[in-house]
Amino acid sequence: MRNYPEITVAPPGPRAREIVARDAAHVSTSNGKQYPLVVARGLGAMIEDVDGNRYLDFMAGIAVVTAGHSHPRVVAAVKRAVESFQHICGSDFYFESFAELAGRLCRLAPGDAPRRVAFGNSGTEAVEAALKLARHHTGRPRFLAFTGAFHGRTMGALSLSASKAKHRRGFAPLLPDVTHVPYAYCYRCPYGLEHPSCDLHCVDVIEEQHFAHELPPEEVAAVFVEPILGEGGYVPPPPDYHRRLKALCEKYGILYVADEVQTGTGRTGRFFASEGYGVEPDIVTLAKGLASGLPIGATIARADLMTWPPGSHGSTFGGNPLACAAALATIELLEQGLMARAKDLGAVLLAGLRALQERHRLIGDVRGRGLMIGVELVRELETKEPAAQEAERVVRRSFEKGLLLLTCGESVVRFAPPLVIEREDVERALSILDEVLTEVEADGRRA
Ligand code: PLP
Repeated sequence: MRNYPEITVAPPGPRAREIVARDAAHVSTSNGKQYPLVVARGLGAMIEDVDGNRYLDFMAGIAVVTAGHSHPRVVAAVKRAVESFQHICGSDFYFESFAELAGRLCRLAPGDAPRRVAFGNSGTEAVEAALKLARHHTGRPRFLAFTGAFHGRTMGALSLSASKAKHRRGFAPLLPDVTHVPYAYCYRCPYGLEHPSCDLHCVDVIEEQHFAHELPPEEVAAVFVEPILGEGGYVPPPPDYHRRLKALCEKYGILYVADEVQTGTGRTGRFFASEGYGVEPDIVTLAKGLASGLPIGATIARADLMTWPPGSHGSTFGGNPLACAAALATIELLEQGLMARAKDLGAVLLAGLRALQERHRLIGDVRGRGLMIGVELVRELETKEPAAQEAERVVRRSFEKGLLLLTCGESVVRFAPPLVIEREDVERALSILDEVLTEVEADGRRA
């Protein structure tokens, strides 16, 4: 029998409140928290807070702890690494796990073309490296990205992001030559069309409108695209979308960069979500789940693109020995069953959420691949008015009942559990969500 979720003190309890107050006094005001979870320890899909409450984790530290919290094999690998040496700077010197991880990622990348890897410490750094490499290789200045996209918070990556205005507010000027076009968000098609009869108008419009009138394609270095929109609402595009987009890129010599920071490392049931869409990106970025919680970012590019000279890019901590060890252990666990589990339990979770959709009018759409699933809440099914406050309430009440979730997009509840969850965890999460939706819907009727 599981000993979680179990709430014994209404969160935040006294110890949690004290730590929240210390944090509030000294930590940057820029951090935006969804609920006051104060963690003491974690194991697998369980998190215990400082007051002894135990939660079922369906957000994985924002889609990061692939192998769950403190997986014994990840912990053992990190211990071995830290006992050997802590740091040497992989950009300037050599160590085995750095070369080993680069080789593993090159072999895993979609397609047969030889690849190379540049390591950083985070998603935003992986995207920065891709931006620099794309300019360096093509000699072109401009970029194309998507409305709703999130690529990070450093100046270059922020220039590509267009998920929430608050991320950009007050930080202009950003990179001047980034054009944003609508993503294939079929539930809310910006052109009012339906797939497949739309014939992917959202891709054609890039050529017919933008390339024809304001964005000379021969000046575009790269298109940055998330295989599945992440922070923008967990939106998987239609199956043929990425192939069409890649073909457009090829026509004009534009690099196709798949930002797999959130979709990558097995979460969708394949190592790279791009594989599921049948595309071979020119450049892929990874971070988040790659080392199950240790900081790492990777920019994987075709070897014929990654020819920039020594000194043109690098990082003191990028691909540090602890993170490389954790990443190698994570990849092994993925190959030994976690990736298959993401696919299988993802299907169970998706079916369970679709069954809830039958009974809850708040649920407008359920979508996803593997264990990357979004449930979009709407005030009315007909108007699809986003139920943003309700989504916040669902997440907050789930927290109070011991289920950790997060929102994304305007009114989407996202499910991104560690890939070690079991069927029982899925069933528990569904039953808590059912209860919470019933309560939030009842609140709405009373209001
Ligand atoms: N790219 C994508 C697709 C992301 O989802 C994120 C973070 O949510 C980033 C980049 C930025 O990653 P990081 O927060 O590690 O810099």
